[in-house]
Amino acid sequence: MDNNVGRYERYRLWDYVRELKEKGLVRHIGFSFHSGPELLEKLLQEHPKVEFVQLQINYRDWEDPSVRSRANYEVARKYGKPVVVMEPVKGGSLAKPPQEVKDLFTAYHPEMSPASWAIRYVASLEGILAVLSGMSNQEQMRDNLSYMASFTPLNEEEQHIIHEAQRILGNSRTIPCTACSYCTKGCPQQIAIPEVFRAMNLYLGSGQKEQAREAYRAISNKADLCIACKQCEAVCPQHIRIADRLREAKEVLE
Ligand code: SF4
Ligand code: SF4
Repeated sequence: MDNNVGRYERYRLWDYVRELKEKGLVRHIGFSFHSGPELLEKLLQEHPKVEFVQLQINYRDWEDPSVRSRANYEVARKYGKPVVVMEPVKGGSLAKPPQEVKDLFTAYHPEMSPASWAIRYVASLEGILAVLSGMSNQEQMRDNLSYMASFTPLNEEEQHIIHEAQRILGNSRTIPCTACSYCTKGCPQQIAIPEVFRAMNLYLGSGQKEQAREAYRAISNKADLCIACKQCEAVCPQHIRIADRLREAKEVLE
């Protein structure tokens, strides 16, 4: 896309599509995008008439440094643009994830396909206009219809299972808290550390900021009480920098 933008300007393609819309020949103007958030922001600033953006989003690419699904998605949301999702199953690869990921999924929903987890993940994001899923046969179409005909967004437990899958695939910013609660016993402020991290992971793993804030609000002893004594860090088997991550949670969720 970077290379094409100059050509769009040179041949006045933005004006051309706007004219088509004015003539009633197209209903909505949008574009498919494969570059990074800086360029997306520039285009949305310069072309406020754009009504939607098509982005590559899936749980594997959410934090991928070359695809940058999350960063692009956040720019589209910042400008209030609905998103059409492409590559929700990452070219079919998430229909056949590693066995460890498959086991996670089937332990929770023995009857549901790995592809269904990938598609429901993106369809559960806020502001999604459509999810484009390439299907090669009737079996795949039936599978898609079985959970999209009456769509239910991922619940909190399912979101956490996806975060585990992201971690296994080595592409996650989520906090690797296992909720063992070793840290809470010695905390002088009795902060509900695992619950705070669980709420924060809703945001970090799938951008569900409102859902994360709601989960955070329901916690009685929150991150703001932390005095950074770091007693908890000495016992955390996952070596999480708990005080820093609590400060981060406070900034994002309060
Ligand atoms: S650093 Fe914060 S969370 Fe950890 S024990 Fe101290 S007060 Fe509790
Ligand atoms: S000790 Fe570490 S892994 Fe265990 S609940 Fe606390 S933060 Fe999470």
